[in-house]
Amino acid sequence: MAADESFNPSRRQLVGGMATGLAAAIAAPAMAQSRTADPAAGDGGGALTIRRHPASQYPRPPFESQPQEWPGLASKMNPRPDHGETSYKGAGRLIGRKALITGGDSGIGRAAAIAYAREGADVAINYLPAEESDAQEVVELILREGRKAVAIPGDIRDEAFCGELVETAVRELGGLDILVNNAAYQRWARSIADISTEQFDDTCKINLYAMFWITKAALPHLAEGASIINTSSQTTYDPPALLLEYSMTKAGMVAFSKALAKQLIDQGIRVNVVAPGPFWTPLQPSGGQPQESVQTFGEDTPMGRPGQPVELAPVYVLLASQESSYATGQVYGASGGNGHP
Ligand code: NAD
Ligand code: MG
Repeated sequence: MAADESFNPSRRQLVGGMATGLAAAIAAPAMAQSRTADPAAGDGGGALTIRRHPASQYPRPPFESQPQEWPGLASKMNPRPDHGETSYKGAGRLIGRKALITGGDSGIGRAAAIAYAREGADVAINYLPAEESDAQEVVELILREGRKAVAIPGDIRDEAFCGELVETAVRELGGLDILVNNAAYQRWARSIADISTEQFDDTCKINLYAMFWITKAALPHLAEGASIINTSSQTTYDPPALLLEYSMTKAGMVAFSKALAKQLIDQGIRVNVVAPGPFWTPLQPSGGQPQESVQTFGEDTPMGRPGQPVELAPVYVLLASQESSYATGQVYGASGGNGHP
């Protein structure tokens, strides 16, 4: 068996008795569309225990052109991203915890949501109303683990909504232990002259203000042992010319998190950052990159491919869990061999 043939789970085992959305989410996942299904991979979880070359574990460029309207849907991507639908296996590391994840419908946030549920946590996700179909796939996956799933659509550019989001999550979950500020806006532009005040404002509102508003609203509900995780980017350290104000906000998130970690340690609350490299998510084809860069996405990393969201899931789990008790104010990278941290 070639190493990467083991990825695709048996479709027959997966789709029986499932609602259509979930069946579509996990039966077509993408990765190995043309590869032979391997019954030995079972539900797919076994696939991640097999030793193999990481560079050939997931799809490599070139990818086809696939423009989408912002905010984009994971369900429309080709290949479909792997968020861990069939491959992430939990080990009870977050039993009884309650998590709120912004941008939990797709991409890295969806991978965190699935992993948290498989580790035993109840999960609330926020997303935009246009992403309802992606969000419902995540809800079904969380429910399937026997965990509580709370879907809270709404636009986090609005301070009042950010407060309502936290209150709803706390009420529905019965508390809050883990906050993942993960939603973002990324719009490429060749020149500062092409960046409107509206675009600059949206990027700052979604990436920085919302993190500030949501964190502030969440704090009264967080007790010792709680964990805040903010998704920044490698663009903090190596800002591309095309991502001027986005990179600025991502760098701001790191400084915010490091200072907040110092403020909150007396309360026993940890704050950490994940700074991903290129990951295969709807953020990119929906305006985050020029289409030609989507087609070669990840090519310029030593790995030669983009990361799949599931490849970050263990980092979000680690930072949420008590196991990483000495980590606060830290930045965790996963960039396929490039960059920082
Ligand atoms: P994604 O498109 O799947 O997730 C981003 C989410 O942000 C969307 O699903 C959407 O629900 C949410 N969002 C955007 N605007 C919103 C608004 N106004 N109100 C509410 N929700 C809103 O893409 P992703 O790549 O998984 O992004 C997750 C995080 O990862 C982001 O912070 C992004 O900056 C970061 N990141 C991604 C990459 C990458 O290559 N994909 C690299 C570095 C960092
Ligand atoms: Mg989305």
